[in-house]
Amino acid sequence: MKLCPRCHTGKIELKKVVYVQWQDPDTVIVDRIPAMVCDNCGEKTYDLQALENLQQLLWTTLTPPPRPSSRSSSPAGKR
Ligand SMILES: [Zn+2]
Repeated sequence: MKLCPRCHTGKIELKKVVYVQWQDPDTVIVDRIPAMVCDNCGEKTYDLQALENLQQLLWTTLTPPPRPSSRSSSPAGKR
């Protein structure tokens, strides 16, 4: 059993919580990730690994990888 690092009296339990991130003024990303939640004060400690995974997921979603087939600057061209 772990005690809450904030209030030192509540128990912290692993729960799936809603994580909200604002990327732009109009873009809100919501996901459920595991976090340690205190049952006394409600302190949330996000699982760092899950948070990292989410961040990576967001980055790959928001910034698509460059296409390898977009090579338009080939010097040996048509003739
Ligand atoms: Zn607490």
